[in-house]
Amino acid sequence: RFITLEGGEGAGKSTQIRLLADRLEQAGIAVRTTREPGGAPGSELIRDLIVKGAVDRWTPMTEALLITAARAEHVARLIRPALEQGQWVLCDRFFDSTVAYQGAARGLGMTEMTNLQQLALGNFAPDLTLILDLPVDVGLARAVRREAGRTDGEDRFERMGQDFHSRLRRAYLEIAGQETARCQVIDADRDIGAIHGDIWKSVADRMDV
Ligand code: C5P
Repeated sequence: RFITLEGGEGAGKSTQIRLLADRLEQAGIAVRTTREPGGAPGSELIRDLIVKGAVDRWTPMTEALLITAARAEHVARLIRPALEQGQWVLCDRFFDSTVAYQGAARGLGMTEMTNLQQLALGNFAPDLTLILDLPVDVGLARAVRREAGRTDGEDRFERMGQDFHSRLRRAYLEIAGQETARCQVIDADRDIGAIHGDIWKSVADRMDV
């Protein structure tokens, strides 16, 4: 099974992926957690090109192609092999991030970015995508608190302003509305335990654990 977590800045994806992985392991399931951009060695090299430079280092299209190249590598080298070995793969961000960030927030077009994913990955897709949704100002406030300790440049989108983040949120909700069989929206404007409870319920309902 392949599960992805999605959401804007400050949604709490990394905390929730850890909690979900622990819970699945307690249920006796072999879990592989990973993240994007990155995941496989070559994909991590591409991640550094993207997140360590200035926000305007690449044009939006170059960024979309780099991120998608990193994803093709990630799927081929890590995700597919792990699934073939019977592991469950939990991934922090996947192709919906490209559709939302580069397609909607950066203006390349959601359809165009969906087509690019199809070109790179064929019909490969997650079995379940959990979209952590919260108001833009709440997410940004959380992200800014976290930013204080970060020096690696990975917080660059936290400074991009309300419009960018509103387009991002709307895009994720649009994807969820179009792909109801795959996507589940989780209200992330609550405490960690409540969010985890909903995530677990969704996973248990949809994937009978
Ligand atoms: O999920 P995380 O916050 O670790 O993402 C790392 C950085 O990459 C963030 O600044 C995020 O906004 C950015 N990103 C992006 N386009 C994507 C995926 C992530 O700009 N498709």
